[in-house]
Amino acid sequence: MSFFNRVSAICPYCKIHVNFSWISSDDNGGEIEDYSEDYFKNEKGIWVIGVCPSCKNCVLLNGYESSNKFILTKTYPFPLPSVVDERIPEKIKKDLEEAKLCFSVGAINASSGMCRKALQRACKEKGATKKELYDQIDEITTKGVISNDLRELAQSVRLIGNDGVHPNDDEVSKEDAEEILNLAEQFLDIIFVAPAKVKEIKERKEKK
Ligand SMILES: [Zn+2]
Repeated sequence: MSFFNRVSAICPYCKIHVNFSWISSDDNGGEIEDYSEDYFKNEKGIWVIGVCPSCKNCVLLNGYESSNKFILTKTYPFPLPSVVDERIPEKIKKDLEEAKLCFSVGAINASSGMCRKALQRACKEKGATKKELYDQIDEITTKGVISNDLRELAQSVRLIGNDGVHPNDDEVSKEDAEEILNLAEQFLDIIFVAPAKVKEIKERKEKK
């Protein structure tokens, strides 16, 4: 069987979305192909080597066949998570990066816990003084730093993050962990990145 579809995924080397090309290997050094005839199959699925058209590095692609198409499930090495916006304060940015890194290797409890930590640090950065995260979120809502909608969002991150770090019966699911990662990033974008962007626009206007 040959696969004619190109596989789209994040390249673990250049960290952008690319369409991997297939490679064929032979005595003369092989070639880059539009289709794949060379693959290995075992009980863990189909394994093929792809090459990134952008940086030329090779990756091992794992997946399965469906209607003569190769469906990707995993890339090796694992693609590192997407870049966190530089405008988020350094320590909070590091927490979010660690949350993404944890998620990318399947450490979903750790990932949710790091989201919670990033959220708590953000509340303190925005002037929260209370001890518990629940109260800190309410505190910055009362101060007008965040809206009521954003408060709801933050409390969801807190709740799932709690399950990630406390030994209770509620396990964090992969879906929840992914959702919370997205919400945490949105939250940080709204309170740190958006105001920074507004400031940048204003400064550009004033220069003109
Ligand atoms: Zn690449």
